[in-house]
Amino acid sequence: MTPQEAIEIITNAVQTENMTAEQDKALAIVQKATDKQTPKKPVDADYDGKIQVGFCPDCEECVSSDFCYNCGQALDWG
Ligand SMILES: [Zn+2]
Repeated sequence: MTPQEAIEIITNAVQTENMTAEQDKALAIVQKATDKQTPKKPVDADYDGKIQVGFCPDCEECVSSDFCYNCGQALDWG
């Protein structure tokens, strides 16, 4: 089961017409956390001969590792 599948199952299980604001907020936080763990391709990824550099697709910070140091977004360098 992928994290996305897990979040879908949980969302379907708890999402109802009469969710409290707190439950709604908790679900949004978990969805965001799962989203950060799902690798996304860096924007304008380039290899300068030594390291790969690009920009975080989420916060647009300059990145060169598997995670954005600024927002924690997982990165997929392909
Ligand atoms: Zn970022």
